[in-house]
Amino acid sequence: MLTQTAAAQGRTIISSHGNTAVWEDQANGQRALYAASAIDAGACIAEFHAAAIMHTPSYLTVQKDDDEHIHLSPAHLQYVNHSCAPNAFFDTTYMSLIALKAIAAGEEITFFYPSSEWDMAQSFSCRCGSEQCLGEIKGAAHLPADVLIRYHLTDYINRKIQQSCSERH
Ligand SMILES: [Zn+2]
Repeated sequence: MLTQTAAAQGRTIISSHGNTAVWEDQANGQRALYAASAIDAGACIAEFHAAAIMHTPSYLTVQKDDDEHIHLSPAHLQYVNHSCAPNAFFDTTYMSLIALKAIAAGEEITFFYPSSEWDMAQSFSCRCGSEQCLGEIKGAAHLPADVLIRYHLTDYINRKIQQSCSERH
């Protein structure tokens, strides 16, 4: 049934990983992670660890500390794309990908890049289509406090916000 859902959206299933699967858009070759079955709000979608730790960020890494940027293992988690209205969160303290809301089978799994990235190596223009789309995504350091407060953020980003607050006062 899920194969039909993917096909109806013009997507091919590349690989399956229990409750998730990597789908590829036949039109542009872009890959994304999708829910293969319904996922409850608050559920752990996957546990992850660092395949490698880098000192500088890249478009593939997730930030854990000032000079700690990890390559995700399992590798298919690299296909979790950004959305300004995310349904998942990379908890880099407990090293698990958490569902922020109920996710239906066949729905793309997304996270908010600035929830873990303080100052991104490459900024990009977001076209997530959500009502609250922020446009240019550059990392949490570039977002105002009233925007950040709407999001679930890693302990690292919360600590950075706290630090920049103490520097100002
Ligand atoms: Zn957006």
